[in-house]
Amino acid sequence: MSMSMPMPTLLLLLLLLHGHGGAGAGDICIVGSGISGSSTAFFLTNYTTALSGAQLRVFERRAKVGGRLATVTVAGDHFEAGGSIIHPQNLHVRRFADLLGLAAKADGDDDWLGIWDGRRFVFQTLRPLPPGTSWLRRKLHALVNSLRLFKRYGLSLLKMDRFVQEMLQRFMLYYNGFESRPVFDTVEEMLKWSGLYGLTRRTLEAELLDAGLNSQTISELVTVITRINYGQSASISGLAGAVSLAGSESGLWAVKGGNWQLAAGLLKAANATLHLQEGIDSIEYAGDNYILKSNKGHEYSCVATVVATPLDEVNITFSPPISIPARKTQHTHATFVRGILNPKFFGLSSVSDIPELIGTMEVPEIPFSSISILKKYSEQDMTYKVFSRVKLNDSLLDQIFSRRKETIRINWPAYPHYEAPEVFAPIILDDKQLYYVNTFESAASAMETGAVAAENVARLLIARLRLPLPSRPAAPDHHDQRADL
Ligand SMILES: Cc1cc2nc3c(=O)[nH]c(=O)nc-3n(C[C@H](O)[C@H](O)[C@H](O)COP(=O)(O)OP(=O)(O)OC[C@H]3O[C@@H](n4cnc5c(N)ncnc54)[C@H](O)[C@@H]3O)c2cc1C
Repeated sequence: MSMSMPMPTLLLLLLLLHGHGGAGAGDICIVGSGISGSSTAFFLTNYTTALSGAQLRVFERRAKVGGRLATVTVAGDHFEAGGSIIHPQNLHVRRFADLLGLAAKADGDDDWLGIWDGRRFVFQTLRPLPPGTSWLRRKLHALVNSLRLFKRYGLSLLKMDRFVQEMLQRFMLYYNGFESRPVFDTVEEMLKWSGLYGLTRRTLEAELLDAGLNSQTISELVTVITRINYGQSASISGLAGAVSLAGSESGLWAVKGGNWQLAAGLLKAANATLHLQEGIDSIEYAGDNYILKSNKGHEYSCVATVVATPLDEVNITFSPPISIPARKTQHTHATFVRGILNPKFFGLSSVSDIPELIGTMEVPEIPFSSISILKKYSEQDMTYKVFSRVKLNDSLLDQIFSRRKETIRINWPAYPHYEAPEVFAPIILDDKQLYYVNTFESAASAMETGAVAAENVARLLIARLRLPLPSRPAAPDHHDQRADL
């Protein structure tokens, strides 16, 4: 006798097994394929034996993964358009690159920096030496540069360095093993544990004045750095400011071929199911699971959902509604120009007198935050990256540049507009299984902070879903680079 099931029962069973739109009931869904979403996927599959990559769905509304990690092509050459530099002590990203076999590209330490006040360069480091210069001359050159900086900014330089090192030392606690590092329910708890919370309560300027820096160093050097890294003044909150200052240290690097490969590699390593060009329009709690509706008209049923994108300028409808504090977004307009700068704009007679990295002071009349040379084709033909807070129109660009062959503009919803004291959205958005990685961006926005926040969310989700841990937990042991993907 054959056991045949009546068709309607079979259909019902299939529907129950596969949820509303094809996803299994045990799926974990991640919205966003930037470094936060991709590292959440990576840590989830590394930290529990209960999840296979196939159960991880990552939704990305754009055609490419990486989010704010993206390259731009100018005259056939690729350049970082968003997140560019990685600090040598960013251990998660370092480990990702090593595990994924991605090569590092050093970011030159000897930029010829000029600080522009709208009328003149108030300070300049020395021009870089030509390639092939002897070791001795290079050492002397570095020494003279240090003396120049010391002459202008004095002991403030050492105090600034101490301030950054103290922040980094505390940040390193986030790499401790599981046994000495709790899982955090809130960003406040996470920051208080490492001793970094206080820095989010006051402005960078107030912190640096307390640390003994003089006001000239803050209005020139510090402001140049915060304007380059966050498009904002030294009145940003202290932790974001300290992270920004760390981005001016030596030993910085980037992934050869583009930092976006980190996100692509992590998603591949996690074996996650990637839904490209599929934006999530709504997330609805439906009893035991979440129903995610996409702009392709599909529905997915997920036991837990991780939001890995800032919600400030993203239109996702939550049901029931969630409550998060308002956060302003700082837009950075990245303008890529192949051409040549106009020396007259800077009151100079020759292009060769214009520093290779132009940083700016907080003067409202200055229309850009920074200009840097990305590639020199010849003395009269270069590719530049200009950062500004507002769009630079053609007539303004024609004053700044004497010739433009190609211009590409990107308007980034770049990072939070930092205002101390910072308030943080919850990590658990609904007391259930809805998580928000990018609440941590209110502390500081960077690739590494995204990875650190994602790692905590992965641990939190595993703990709250009571998923089993592997017998030898793959805690982030940064001395052991042999961890298996
Ligand atoms: C100009 C610029 C320069 C920077 N420089 C540096 C630097 O030098 N070093 C550094 O460490 N950091 C830098 N940063 C910051 C760094 O790039 C970011 O902090 C980091 O990349 C953020 O990653 P994320 O994954 O959290 O967010 P994102 O990269 O923004 O990823 C979110 C993803 O979610 C997708 N998404 C949004 N809504 C939906 C939806 N409804 N459905 C599906 N998908 C959705 C988005 O398309 C995006 O791909 C810079 C940023 C900018 C803009």
